[in-house]
Amino acid sequence: ESEALPFIASKVSQYSCQRKTTLNNCNKKFTDAFEIMAENYEFKENEIFSLEFLRAASVLKFLPFPVIRMKDIQGLPCMGDRVKDVIEEIIEEGESSRAKEVLNDERYKSFKQFTSVFGVGVKTSEKWYRMGLRTLEEVKADKTLKLSKMQKAGFLYYEDLVSCVSKAEADAVSLIVRNTVCTFLPDALVTITGGFRRGKKTGHDIDFLITNPGPREDDELLQKGLLLYCDVIESTFLKEQIPSRKVDAMDNFQKCFAILKLCQPGVDNSSYNTSKNTDMAEVKDWKAIRVDLVITPFEQYAYALLGWTGSRQFGRDLRRYANHEKKMILDNHALYDREKRIFLKAGSEEEIFAHLGLDYVEPWERNA
Ligand code: ATP
Ligand code: MN
Ligand code: MN
Repeated sequence: ESEALPFIASKVSQYSCQRKTTLNNCNKKFTDAFEIMAENYEFKENEIFSLEFLRAASVLKFLPFPVIRMKDIQGLPCMGDRVKDVIEEIIEEGESSRAKEVLNDERYKSFKQFTSVFGVGVKTSEKWYRMGLRTLEEVKADKTLKLSKMQKAGFLYYEDLVSCVSKAEADAVSLIVRNTVCTFLPDALVTITGGFRRGKKTGHDIDFLITNPGPREDDELLQKGLLLYCDVIESTFLKEQIPSRKVDAMDNFQKCFAILKLCQPGVDNSSYNTSKNTDMAEVKDWKAIRVDLVITPFEQYAYALLGWTGSRQFGRDLRRYANHEKKMILDNHALYDREKRIFLKAGSEEEIFAHLGLDYVEPWERNA
């Protein structure tokens, strides 16, 4: 096994798809600061600086030892000057003054609150911030704002949605989704993707991939009464479409960003109940949970599974690697060889890694 090999910094690939990154991060002190920096740059729509910190975070997550002196990062990829400055300060002071400044920054604090609402992204946050709004209370109080259907649901179920989804809740929802899908499509395959497939114990949502072997097309998956909110995006995929070369390409599958009502007596709603209910009021015995449902044709299943399992950084690096090292274009639907001008078919993730000339990386090693 690789554990036996000595660690050589200069041999570490700049691509996270050539590294095995588990959830054992011994450099959290650094990566947390990097992620704050990256998020702030994302809020400023500075993709280059944001990616610089995300790549650096991903390299340190992979390191099998904690960084304690500058010498420890010598020879590692993705360690630019901005990144090194933050590392140096954390080594010396125990924390990063830059990350701390960001956490206290008015704009960052507002954007952080705004984007915590389902349906609110950087663009909407920018608009609200420019209008002089600073907190969610101010947003809620502003009756002139025209909220989308998604955002209204986001505010309505806010408390539930900001509390993390546990593995137990993911398992419970998984049963419901499987049973429901099964009544429509008895042969359908339902797979949990996203963070839970990578072994995470909590998540902000639960991601499902649904495919139906055989010729039948999927029709109706939205179950009234089960989904509290469902925004269905119809498939826009065109046959033989050349994959998109964008780093963060959205795909064209039929998908549904939903909120599911999980009815369970054991569900922890303590924060919700104390804030909303008086002692006379009924106890809320359900929890709103964010669920992403993606429906894929069977031939594209392996590509969709790879794309939706993430991590986001792992996916970005896979596409960057394919493009720059293999002259291929990868997205959640297909892999296209630009030189041979052919699509490479794959029935499993293993085959996709093989097409790319990469060693297979298990889902729990994709926590880049
Ligand atoms: P979390 O626990 O926060 O949910 P996660 O890794 O599951 O972590 P998600 O945001 O649920 O994060 O995304 C899961 C994967 O699906 C990621 O690899 C991401 O790139 C991909 N993904 C998310 N949204 C889309 C989208 N609209 N189109 C295509 N891919 C997406
Ligand atoms: Mn997820
Ligand atoms: Mn998701």
